[in-house]
Amino acid sequence: MNELPILPTTVIGSYPRPKWLREMIRLNLAGRVTDDELAEAFNDSVISVFRDHQLAGVDVPSDGEMRRDEMTEFFAKKLKGFKFYGPVRVWGTNYYNKPSVVGKIQYEQPMLVNEFEFAKGASYTPNLKITITGPYTIADWSYNEYYRTKYDMAKDLAKTINLEIKKLIEVGAKIIQVDEPALHSHSEEVEWAIDITNEAIAGTNVKTIIHICYGDYSLLTPYIENLKYNQINLALKNYNYKPLKLFKKWHGELGIGVIDVHQRRVESAEEVAEDIEHVLTQYPAKKIWINPDCGLKLLPRSIAFQKLKSMVDGTKIVREKLKS
Ligand SMILES: [Zn+2]
Repeated sequence: MNELPILPTTVIGSYPRPKWLREMIRLNLAGRVTDDELAEAFNDSVISVFRDHQLAGVDVPSDGEMRRDEMTEFFAKKLKGFKFYGPVRVWGTNYYNKPSVVGKIQYEQPMLVNEFEFAKGASYTPNLKITITGPYTIADWSYNEYYRTKYDMAKDLAKTINLEIKKLIEVGAKIIQVDEPALHSHSEEVEWAIDITNEAIAGTNVKTIIHICYGDYSLLTPYIENLKYNQINLALKNYNYKPLKLFKKWHGELGIGVIDVHQRRVESAEEVAEDIEHVLTQYPAKKIWINPDCGLKLLPRSIAFQKLKSMVDGTKIVREKLKS
């Protein structure tokens, strides 16, 4: 890892797929584009994502998670023990291919190693981030038809995610983000959910980040000191920074969301700068990283790009002020 500036800027992970990639995926399903041609398109799209992140000026980019349709399904399909019965309706007309656990969950094959190796070669900086869905979230978003308890299921998932993280470190990953959006979904489970997610990074010596987004952050507060990650990154713009005070006892770095990913309105650089300055009244700058609230994949690509640009430009305004 190279040295980073104060207030490093990063992404959460996902970025909009280019329209031509979506078209290639559709044509592949229809049998009109070969798997090799589609693989080439995925690689080309990763290069495009890094180029966008570079033009925006992001310090710690990702590959945009171009190869992943969905954050649970992607991993469930590569692990032993899962079965898919078909899509379930989540809300409105949105369907989700919810996996079922029907046998012991076991590690079968590397899940992200090829993806990371390509990203490493395509990245403009050695400071790239690789994201992986956390064991508690995969457990929470799957049906349990095998284990006696959800805890037992999550425990086996933690073992497999830990194995994968170790493989990523072997091939050079230096910044690893575990995505646990479900961590605070059930108040009675938060305490053990934190133990489970800690197991995912057990025995590692790289920079570890946990991403926790929408929901009631106050459920985390009683156990926040138990988290063993170097950094938590959070959705905060969407909540107008109100939950910020809940993390006073947190010993590590804090990644603060300054971009609302649910709104198409593009924040101005000045607005981002003001928000960061507000955060700096409560936390020291050396503990703060700057990120969007969540992944950008549901936004139109041009808007996602402009939002990243504002995030970086706003951060630069604050960096200048910190110098004087
Ligand atoms: Zn998120």
